[in-house]
Amino acid sequence: MIFFHICIVRKGCVTTDSVNFMSKPQAQIDTNKALVRERLTDDTTKWSRECVLPYPKEFEQSIDLLLEASLLAVKGKSRITQARQLIQQMSDVEMRTWFDALAQNAGAVRLEMLNRKPNKSVGKSSEDRPTEKREMQIIREQGFHCRYCGIRLVPNKQLKNLQDLVGYETLPNRSKKKKRMSTTDIHGIWILTRATVDHVEPMAMGGLDINRDENLAACCWSCNYAKSWYTIEDLEIDNPMCRPARHTDWLGLTDILP
Ligand SMILES: [Zn+2]
Repeated sequence: MIFFHICIVRKGCVTTDSVNFMSKPQAQIDTNKALVRERLTDDTTKWSRECVLPYPKEFEQSIDLLLEASLLAVKGKSRITQARQLIQQMSDVEMRTWFDALAQNAGAVRLEMLNRKPNKSVGKSSEDRPTEKREMQIIREQGFHCRYCGIRLVPNKQLKNLQDLVGYETLPNRSKKKKRMSTTDIHGIWILTRATVDHVEPMAMGGLDINRDENLAACCWSCNYAKSWYTIEDLEIDNPMCRPARHTDWLGLTDILP
């Protein structure tokens, strides 16, 4: 059983969110990898150089619904039912399936198709990550968009604030019973938009000064998992810090759900 860790929000220095997605039968893993290969195609010259696997653009509609639901939810109890209805219109299952079957396997599949087997170095532990405050600062400074795929990001705090307003059942983020969550316990919009910070040079390969500014990229959950501990050179993607951060009027709902 393998556990991947993404540290987004922590108490003290301890990573609080771990996702266990890998306790699947081998046949299921093989099927998922075949889906990624099909999406990538055999023509490596046509692969994205910006991210490991671009997300389906129809998911933008669910992010628009998230924005509308947030605007309604903050108006008070009389609008909560409407906000819940908008959340229920999102492509919850599709977004979860996208992550579970495709995105999180995409880095490994790219490497397999490129016939690369990089050695994992002894890197830094999650305790050596930047502070939560600095991660939020990075996400804000880099415009609340994933530096790789460009998707709109939402910090965990804002998603939790919305959850408080619409109720846990409408917007779940983990199992109440199990210590570790599986994808079925999390609403798809949470998986799709959640803001993280990625080490472009992976922590697992990390030398000195792994937390230098130019190595820290605002990143969506899917790109972070897809990239895993692989280098951008191994994955044949460009350094996202070499292109400008995307700044629009999207502020990760921090202007609506402070
Ligand atoms: Zn991304």
